[in-house]
Amino acid sequence: MEICFLGTGTSQGVPMIGCECETCRSANPKNKRGRTSIHVKAGGYGLQVDAAPEFRLQCIENDIDRIDWVVLTHGHADHIAGMDDLRRFVDFRQGEGLPVYGSRPTLERLRQMYPYAVRDRPEFPGYPAFVPHAVRAPQTLEFPWGTLHTTNLPHGRFEVLGLVFTERESGKKFTYYTDCKTVKASQRALAAGSDVVVLDGLRDRPHPTHMTIGEAVDVAASIGAAQTYLIHMAHLVEHDRVDRGLPSGVNLAYDGLRLVL
Ligand SMILES: [Zn+2]
Ligand SMILES: [Zn+2]
Ligand SMILES: [Zn+2]
Repeated sequence: MEICFLGTGTSQGVPMIGCECETCRSANPKNKRGRTSIHVKAGGYGLQVDAAPEFRLQCIENDIDRIDWVVLTHGHADHIAGMDDLRRFVDFRQGEGLPVYGSRPTLERLRQMYPYAVRDRPEFPGYPAFVPHAVRAPQTLEFPWGTLHTTNLPHGRFEVLGLVFTERESGKKFTYYTDCKTVKASQRALAAGSDVVVLDGLRDRPHPTHMTIGEAVDVAASIGAAQTYLIHMAHLVEHDRVDRGLPSGVNLAYDGLRLVL
């Protein structure tokens, strides 16, 4: 299984428009964050988790050329505003609509934002086409490459799909919990045994709908994976300084990071 971090930033991205802070002015590429999403390659297939506003550029930057399924964690704009650019991947499928998995509220938002695209085949050649599949978490989805466990993470008024990937052939396990305020004991248990865990870690100061870096570090310790990466960081998080201060086995992810499990 291969995981590519297409974007690791919060909803405004980094640099933020009109901000002169240390991180936003930094020349370090690890301080340039598109909005958060990952691409997972398993068994020769491509699974896309969310499509950020920079999705097209992220695909070009990271050589993404195949998507077989899309999984949406939730309907916030920073996670679905790039979905129109999935049209290219529908082309690659000779116009066969892309299966899009998400909760019912997320799929409702999808219909509102892309009314022309929720259909089996594109309205016109070159248009996107999304075939919605409702997920009722906790639900286990079977794919040709393995299984995807889903769970509902609390994120203010929203619930976010937490995702646990298990590749059948290798037995490798990978947990992706973005945009969440807490991770319940049952969800920590679901993630236990993961080779790598990814957690929301917004910034130091508390936030009503996201975990702070300190909260994420506590969750990482109680899950106990050998390696945890934090994502969805605000501009207040200067990569090298914050990364140095994290416990061993916990690091900040950055745009373009690739993991091979
Ligand atoms: Zn800034
Ligand atoms: Zn969100
Ligand atoms: Zn977000």
